[in-house]
Amino acid sequence: MEQRCSASEGGHLAAVCSEPGCKGTPLRCSAKNEAFCAIFDTLFGTNSAPILLINPEDDGAVVDANKKALEFYGYSREAFRQLHVWDINTLGRAVLPVMREISSWAGGHYPQRFRHRLADGTIRDVQVYAGPVQLADCKLLLCIVQDITAVIEAEQFNRLLLDSVNVGVCGIDDTGAFTFVNPEAVRAFGVLHESEVIKLGIHRFLGDAGEQAGGEIHPILRMASTGPTAQGIECFMRKADGTLFPVRLVVSPIRVGDRIQGSVLSFTDLTKQREQEEQVADLINSVPGIVFQAVMAANGRFSPTYFNAAATGFLGISSEIDLTSPEVLSSFLPRFGWIGLLRSLKRSARWQQPWEREFQINGREGGKWLLGRAKTRLQSNGDVAFTGVLLDITDRKRLEARLEAAALTDSLTGLKNRRHFEQALKTSAERHLAQARPYSLMVVDIDHFKQLNDRYGHDVGDDTLRHVAGILQLRSREMDCAARWGGEEFAVLLPDTGLEFASSLANDIRSHVAEAGFPADGLSVSIGVGEVASGEDPGAFFRRVDAALYRAKANGRNRVELA
Ligand code: GH3
Ligand code: MG
Ligand code: MG
Repeated sequence: MEQRCSASEGGHLAAVCSEPGCKGTPLRCSAKNEAFCAIFDTLFGTNSAPILLINPEDDGAVVDANKKALEFYGYSREAFRQLHVWDINTLGRAVLPVMREISSWAGGHYPQRFRHRLADGTIRDVQVYAGPVQLADCKLLLCIVQDITAVIEAEQFNRLLLDSVNVGVCGIDDTGAFTFVNPEAVRAFGVLHESEVIKLGIHRFLGDAGEQAGGEIHPILRMASTGPTAQGIECFMRKADGTLFPVRLVVSPIRVGDRIQGSVLSFTDLTKQREQEEQVADLINSVPGIVFQAVMAANGRFSPTYFNAAATGFLGISSEIDLTSPEVLSSFLPRFGWIGLLRSLKRSARWQQPWEREFQINGREGGKWLLGRAKTRLQSNGDVAFTGVLLDITDRKRLEARLEAAALTDSLTGLKNRRHFEQALKTSAERHLAQARPYSLMVVDIDHFKQLNDRYGHDVGDDTLRHVAGILQLRSREMDCAARWGGEEFAVLLPDTGLEFASSLANDIRSHVAEAGFPADGLSVSIGVGEVASGEDPGAFFRRVDAALYRAKANGRNRVELA
C-alpha cells in the first residue's frame, strides 16, 4: 500500500511532505517550521472539536485526524490515515471538486453541511468549517467538524410540527419581514407557495394595515416589538387578494438578551367558526319563541346569561331592555309564579334533569302561556348551566280551556252539564264532611213538557229548555252551579247555603217561570229543595231532594217542596 504524507511522527506533527509531487513519503518538519509545527501540533491535538487534515491534491487523502475526530468517527489513527475524504462523506467522490474549490479560497473557513459516515456505519449531519492551510510546502485542507445531527433533527421536527398544525404560524424579524411561514399560514393568506408570502412581509397581511396612514406602527407589530406574549387577540388579517378574514392571534416576541429580535405570530382562521356562529344565530332567531341560557350556582343563585334577539319582541318589550337582569324577568310573573319557577329550576339543577314547565306570564290579552324546556349541564365549577326554549302555547292553552269547558257544558242550554254538576256536588260534599260546611240543592223539572213538545213542536221545546235555563242562570248566584241534569230536568247546587235561602231562591225561580208566559201561558216548573243533613252522603241527599220534587208533582205541580 502506498505511503502517504504523515501528519505526525512520534506524536509530533511534522510530517507534511515538502517535496513537490510528494506521494506521501513521511518527512520531518524542516527546521524553520519547527516552532510553527509545535504550536499547530498542540492546537490540533488538544482541540475539543474533531479536526481532519485532508490533502485535496492527493485524492482527498486523510493526512491526520485529532483525538476528538478519532473518537467521533470511531477509527484508530492508523486506520483513519488510510482513508480518503470520500470514504467518510456520503457525497463520495463528488466531494473532491468541492474540496478543491474550498482549498483555492484565499483564507478563512466557510461552513458547509455534509453527511458523514462513521466507522460503525451510522450517518451524522455535520457542519464543516474547511479552509486551506500551508504546512511545510503542502497545501492541505483543515476541516473542523461540528456534529449538528441533533440540530438538524430538531429543525426537521420543528418543520414537521409547523407543517402539520392547523394553526397559521409565521416568524417575522424586527422589520416585519417574514423569516418563515408554515403551510397553514400560506393557505390562510390565499397563496400557493411560501415564497409568494415571504417576499411581501407581514404588513401586507395585517388587517387594517393598508389603511394605516402616516407610518403609524400597526398595533400587532407594536405588540410584536415590545412584548410580552399577547394571547387571544381577535382581529382581522388580509389575504393576498385583499379580502379580510377573522383570526385569533398569539404574538410571541423572540427575546435574545434584552433585545427583541422578531416574533412568532400564530393564528387560527376563524372564518368557518364565524360562519357557523352566524348560522347558529340565524337558527336561534328563527325559533318561534325564546331561546335562553342560564346558570344555577351551587348556592342556588339563578342567573340568566343569554336570550336570543327575538326574546324582547316576543315579550312585547323594548329590545333595549336587558333580559339577563333577574328583576326584568321576575316582573313577568306573579310573585308566587316566579318563586315556583325558581324552585322547579333548582330541582332540575339538583338532579341534573331536564327542566319542563308550563306557566303564564303577565301581559296584554290576559298574558301568554309559555312552555319552558331546558337541558341541564353540570359545569366544571359545579354550576349547572341551562340551555332551553320558551315556546308560546297560548293558543293550545286556549283550545284546551275551550275543550275542557265544552266537556262540562250542556250544548243546548249553555248550563253546566251533569258531569260538571256531579263534580261540584262531590266538592261540596267533601267540604261538608271535612269542615261541616252546609250546602243546599234544588231539582227542577218542567211540568207537562211532553205536551208542550207535542203541541208546539220540538224546536219550541228546545227554546223552552233554553228559556228555563236562562232563568236558572240569571236567578242563581255566581258561586252556585246551575246544571241541566237531563231532558227537561235541572239541578242547582248552592254551596255554603242553608235551606232558608235555597227555598226562597227556588220559589223565586218557580214564580219567574210561571210569570214569563213563554212559550205560552201556563208553563211551570216543580222544584224539590233541601239542605244537606249533617254527615249526609251526597247520593242520599240528592235522592231526598228528588223525592221532594216528586211530591211537588204529586201535589199539583208549579210548586216548591222542601226535602
Ligand atoms: P211531568 O209534568 O210529569 O214532568 O210530565 P212531562 O211531560 O214533563 O214528563 P215526561 O217525563 O213524561 O216527558 C218529558 C219529555 O221531555 C219527554 C221528552 O220528549 C222531552 N224531552 C226530553 N229532552 C228533550 C229535549 O232536549 N228537547 C225537547 N224538545 N224535548 C225533550
Ligand atoms: Mg217534566
Ligand atoms: Mg222529567
